[in-house]
Amino acid sequence: MQKKYDVVILGGGLAGLTLSLQLKKTQPNISILVLERRETEAPLAAHKVGESTVELGTHYLREVLNLKEYLEEHELPKHGLRFFFKNNTKEDIASRVELGPRLRLPVKSHQLDRGTLENHMAKHTSELGTNFLLGAKVVNVELSTSGGLHKVTYLRHGIEEKVGCKWVVDSSGRASILKRKLQFIKPLDHAINTAWWRLKGVIDIDTWTDNKEWQQHLEPGLRYLSTVHFLDKGYWLWVIPLGTKNTSIGIVADPAIHPFETFNTYEKAVEWMKINEPLAHKMLVPLGEGDGLMDFRILKHFAHHTGRLYSEDRWAVTGEAGFFLDPFYSPGTDLISINNTFLSDLILRDYDGEDISGRANVYEQACLTLFDNWVPVYQNKYNLMGNTQIMVVKIFWDWATYWAIPAHLFANKAFTNLKTLKALFVSENSLGRKFGKLNKTMQDLFLEWLPFENKIFSNKYIDPFDLEVLRDFQEKIEETYEPDALLVHVAKNLNTLEQMAVAIFRIISAEVNGTALDIKVNPYTINLGKKEGAIKLDTESENAIIPCESIVKDVNVMWFYDKK
Ligand SMILES: Cc1cc2nc3c(=O)[nH]c(=O)nc-3n(C[C@H](O)[C@H](O)[C@H](O)COP(=O)(O)OP(=O)(O)OC[C@H]3O[C@@H](n4cnc5c(N)ncnc54)[C@H](O)[C@@H]3O)c2cc1C
Repeated sequence: MQKKYDVVILGGGLAGLTLSLQLKKTQPNISILVLERRETEAPLAAHKVGESTVELGTHYLREVLNLKEYLEEHELPKHGLRFFFKNNTKEDIASRVELGPRLRLPVKSHQLDRGTLENHMAKHTSELGTNFLLGAKVVNVELSTSGGLHKVTYLRHGIEEKVGCKWVVDSSGRASILKRKLQFIKPLDHAINTAWWRLKGVIDIDTWTDNKEWQQHLEPGLRYLSTVHFLDKGYWLWVIPLGTKNTSIGIVADPAIHPFETFNTYEKAVEWMKINEPLAHKMLVPLGEGDGLMDFRILKHFAHHTGRLYSEDRWAVTGEAGFFLDPFYSPGTDLISINNTFLSDLILRDYDGEDISGRANVYEQACLTLFDNWVPVYQNKYNLMGNTQIMVVKIFWDWATYWAIPAHLFANKAFTNLKTLKALFVSENSLGRKFGKLNKTMQDLFLEWLPFENKIFSNKYIDPFDLEVLRDFQEKIEETYEPDALLVHVAKNLNTLEQMAVAIFRIISAEVNGTALDIKVNPYTINLGKKEGAIKLDTESENAIIPCESIVKDVNVMWFYDKK
């Protein structure tokens, strides 16, 4: 007789394994089969990308899945994201403008060795009763639309097996089994390519110079724990330490500026570094000699979207089988956390006998809207990466928005509360929609500013936590509120962001258009008036605001110029 499960998960990577844990932690009796085509345990270090976590995804791993102990014992603590910008003396790391936290961060994150993590989660979910099968390649899915069981066929040791299930979840990553079968592939207008490789051994960029003063900006060892980005026009190069005492290196670039053919083999990536990142070339290439180079992988045009996520007919997609955008701020695990949280709520309500049809639709729309709101953060922004002043302001803005709204909402379990979702998204003036609009306005402003800002800066250290507003947002991500109080708090955060937007705009507009530094502005009308059909800047209506003094002071910290 055919075996039956409540849930069959296609693919046991980060998304599939975390989903199985999330379901089992809440409902130990739910029966789950995870089918993973890899034959053996995951290799350490050289397994997958997705090694650096940020606050939202870390909250999911630590607090929702309760992996705190594992993470502290087996993975590295992370010291935030760190950026080194373009200058004319890239051979000297100490001369580049550096942006990153000096002191240990209140809300934690981790650097993950994906092999160690996936092996741990596979073992852990098996202990909780999940049937986790290696060497099981899914070859067919027959979906039922009549409420009957779906059928999943897989090959294992050359033998074809078939199982029945109430829910089928596609977490097969880029194989995207359901997306291809049901044809809901959706293009995403964000062209970026990547190459990455792992090197044996520890790489601490503190040792890339003898400059003691520079080294002492931070406690020894903290730079090593950061996700390091070296940036210039059209690209960034990452250095990520792994708990297995190895190091992950990668290039992500816009093909319009750095054609893929210039770095899509290891030999070419070495040449590419020689031209674009000469110090990284000098320090990293010797480590790749002999057996130092553990792997080398590439992906072309890897940002992708999806037309569907959750069906009332009890099928769903999560992880990269659905969407993926851009790794610049390490958001991959965040997207999985949000996606899985919507999905596990649906599966568990259905398990308890609730009709989930309405909810499935609301959750799908909400999750797609959240993703769509994230797109402008990255789209066309590789053009800005060679511009230090714009990138500093943008990075601070992007952190402020991320900590104040999505990360805070997630930590407060807001996404599975229908009343909260309604308040966030339903009306034109709802908080979530206003937030999306404000963010898009600012992302467009950064692009509009580019032709007017081109100075190259050197020898500066800038710490996000020198800005009270950023420190406050980060520290309070996990502060909990009852649903109604949460909405009040999010509205307050949005108001702070509106003030930040105006304070930023006033300085840019003073530089570009010579407007007064103290004008009132309606944040939703912000633009420099340089584009055809630009809306009129509202400086007079009751919606025009003046930022408070502390925000003005914080925004001044981002500025490298003297203000006129
Ligand atoms: C360049 C780059 C850098 C990134 N950096 C980060 C980062 O720093 N931080 C971060 O959080 N995220 C990052 N990400 C995103 C992260 O890699 C993904 O979000 C994550 O790996 C996706 O996990 P997944 O489980 O969806 O897919 P995967 O991890 O790919 O898992 C899918 C699984 O399905 C299995 N499978 C496929 N087909 C079948 C089949 N037919 N039958 C059975 N099994 C099958 C595969 O073997 C695989 O194990 C990055 C992504 C890229 C491209």
